[in-house]
Amino acid sequence: MVIDFERARLKMVDEQLVARGIKDPRVLSAMGRVARHLFVEEALADRAYGDHALPIGERQTISQPYMVALMTEALALKGPERVLEIGTGSGYQTAVLAELAARVYSIERIADLAVKARRLIASLGYRNATIKVFDGTIGWKDESPFDAILVAAGSPEIPAPLIEQLKVGGRMIIPVGDRTTQMLKKVIKTPTGVEAASLTGCVFVPLIGAHAWAKEDE
Ligand code: SAH
Repeated sequence: MVIDFERARLKMVDEQLVARGIKDPRVLSAMGRVARHLFVEEALADRAYGDHALPIGERQTISQPYMVALMTEALALKGPERVLEIGTGSGYQTAVLAELAARVYSIERIADLAVKARRLIASLGYRNATIKVFDGTIGWKDESPFDAILVAAGSPEIPAPLIEQLKVGGRMIIPVGDRTTQMLKKVIKTPTGVEAASLTGCVFVPLIGAHAWAKEDE
């Protein structure tokens, strides 16, 4: 069976993103371009544009397209930004960010995932994304400060180093809650601290590191 991935992708944009209120034309066109089916294993490619997360190995998942769009739109990227991403996973969100910002720095704690994502991102021709294996809750001090930070795993609280590494006026999107369910928060750094707003309930894999959960399981 030959699958028309481009058609599936544009249908995803219309039925899952536009229909649910995603408006930023740059986000919609980026997600219409990035070949999501390449970021999952071949056996799952026919489900890549479905309205759900999918497994990517190592007990991790690629987020649902709508969640990727919602998080990306909330960062309000215009083009010149330096963005930090925590939780590279498959690299799909990294590619979407690389379409929309000047520089993307992405951190993944599982080396096998980082290596695969790095190879794929390079093969797709992105020259503005760098992936490293590290504990993302510590951030990436050498490349800071960032205009925007996207955290793709659930944390018990906002890791302090990430607030430090955000510019004043910068935006951070992060799921905060317990291990199974979280609230997606949009955090804006102000001259005196942070302002946080709740966007939606969500379900992410746990953020594991020095400033989040200590281990994978309780
Ligand atoms: N955005 C990804 C999905 C990420 S799933 C995609 O599009 O595919 C969340 C990822 O966060 C997992 O790969 C997990 O290994 C990673 N992760 C969890 N804790 C982390 C930490 N402290 N630093 C970096 N990555 C972390």
